[in-house]
Amino acid sequence: MRVHAYAAPGPSEPLAPTLIERREVGPNDVLIEIKYAGICHSDIHTVRGDWGPQPYPLVPGHEIVGIVTEVGSEVTRHQAGDRVGVGCMVNACRDCVNCRNGDEQYCLNGMVPTYGGVDRDGTVTQGGYATHVVVDADFVLSVPEGIDLAAAAPLLCAGITTYSPLRRSGAGPGKKVAVVGLGGLGHLAVKIAHALGAEVTVLSQSLKKQEDGLRLGANHYHATSDPDTFEQLAGRFDLIINTVSAHIDVDAYLGLLAVDGTLVNVGAPAEPLTLNVFSLIGARRSYAGSMIGGIRETQEMLDFCTEHHIGADIELISADKINDAYERVLASDVRYRFVIDTATLG
Ligand code: NAP
Ligand code: ZN
Repeated sequence: MRVHAYAAPGPSEPLAPTLIERREVGPNDVLIEIKYAGICHSDIHTVRGDWGPQPYPLVPGHEIVGIVTEVGSEVTRHQAGDRVGVGCMVNACRDCVNCRNGDEQYCLNGMVPTYGGVDRDGTVTQGGYATHVVVDADFVLSVPEGIDLAAAAPLLCAGITTYSPLRRSGAGPGKKVAVVGLGGLGHLAVKIAHALGAEVTVLSQSLKKQEDGLRLGANHYHATSDPDTFEQLAGRFDLIINTVSAHIDVDAYLGLLAVDGTLVNVGAPAEPLTLNVFSLIGARRSYAGSMIGGIRETQEMLDFCTEHHIGADIELISADKINDAYERVLASDVRYRFVIDTATLG
């Protein structure tokens, strides 16, 4: 099946319309008519080669929502007409200890990323900036009724990437949580941490988005460009989620943690981050990382967000605005996620 898509021809060329081939629907596959695809900063890191060489032409997009139009003979979990989503992975071995624990994203045999990976049939996977996709039913999530489909798209990556460490680190009543960077991930981290009952602080480069941050559920908002911020908030937080896509001064943020506090890095800049171990030793602090979440956990997140009326704040764009949107994301000029209306791809 040939379908319309937008692809990056190389690391420094703009994305352009193209046609790609989708495989035939196998016994355990689901054919999805994609309605919306979010633009994640990871799409930009990937196509620009920040994380290493890529197989071009490459169709990005791992925040996919749409409607099932066909299912394979063995599929029982989904049926035609269902509202569904696909995130950052489309397969894993399902047999290793991590897969068995529901951590398919850490599959010891290598999970198959939604784009730029090698699928089980040897072809290169192509992502969600397209009108249709065929995905193994076990990696297709249900998007509950009661959540706007376009606002749900960013939950498939930005939502689960922030929900997982917030949940696992016990964000909730009595806990002080800081979110660094108010972009796609950051704004969902604020909404989710607030819904979990935590006291939430936004640490943004400036105070430009303060009103938004407080509306999204933050209790406090500080500018990291103001050196007073780091003095005033020293030793304050139980948990910090760093969503920044660029270099940060890790030691400065570790200094904001209370004894036993944890800084979870979900931001994935091109260059390594470094730290002084005394920033950890001095208050029994932890520095951690986290990558998306497992399939079961992603479904739990979608159900949680529906129950708490959480969707992304989005700017819906047509396909011909994808390259402009990339530039705006790179300039931190996004409120708070660009989502592509895939009806404009054809
Ligand atoms: P985004 O929308 O661009 O948000 C990043 C935010 O970081 C910006 O809005 C900005 O917030 C802040 N920022 C940007 N440049 C900065 C700089 N030079 N110094 C300080 N702050 C800066 O990006 P996103 O889609 O949320 O993704 C964020 C990062 O997470 C990316 O690196 C992405 O690849 C990564 N990611 C990781 C996972 C995972 O599984 N771990 C999943 C998805 C994404 P302010 O304007 O408020 O300062
Ligand atoms: Zn992403």
